[in-house]
Amino acid sequence: MKKSIRVHSYLRKGHVVSHHSKVVNIKRRGVIGPGYKKVFTYLSWQPDEYGGQIDFEKNGIERITVNKGGPTGVDKVLDEDYESTFHTHPEMDDPLLGLSPTDLAESIKQKTEQAQMIISRGNAVIITKTPKMKLLEKQSIPSLEKHFLKEFNNLSKQSKSDKEYLDKLKTGLRSEGFHITEVAANKENIEIPIEVK
Ligand SMILES: [Zn+2]
Repeated sequence: MKKSIRVHSYLRKGHVVSHHSKVVNIKRRGVIGPGYKKVFTYLSWQPDEYGGQIDFEKNGIERITVNKGGPTGVDKVLDEDYESTFHTHPEMDDPLLGLSPTDLAESIKQKTEQAQMIISRGNAVIITKTPKMKLLEKQSIPSLEKHFLKEFNNLSKQSKSDKEYLDKLKTGLRSEGFHITEVAANKENIEIPIEVK
């Protein structure tokens, strides 16, 4: 007997369904408005790496800190009031192409950090942590780095193009429990899925 496969109408229309949004309740409340967006966009076009912290308030940003990175990257330590870190990946078409195992490992270990924004040529990706990170938090930074490095290497071996790598990377990050938001350079605001304190 033949089994018929039912396809949901919303899938047939080509909409992307994120099952994570059902599992994880994230309130989208950290908003980077047009003014601050210009600042981040400007930094993201510089040949040097910049990074820092973002402190949100209900209606936008209360304050940010900005540091210029050295040869080993940028200091991403988060003070308690701040909800998110950010850093630039200079000269990348997609900020995720420059994602490093350290970016993920440091974010996981920084307990007060809810999300990190990575921005390149005005295109932003926000990697928000979820309660699934609790298990990973128990590992040390070096062991997390080793874990992600192995995954990244496997993905790049399996991929024939940047696009394929990025698709596999996003799927992999979601299966690790991260929530991924991409915001194209032409958007007016950047919304960061975090809880504003
Ligand atoms: Zn990075």
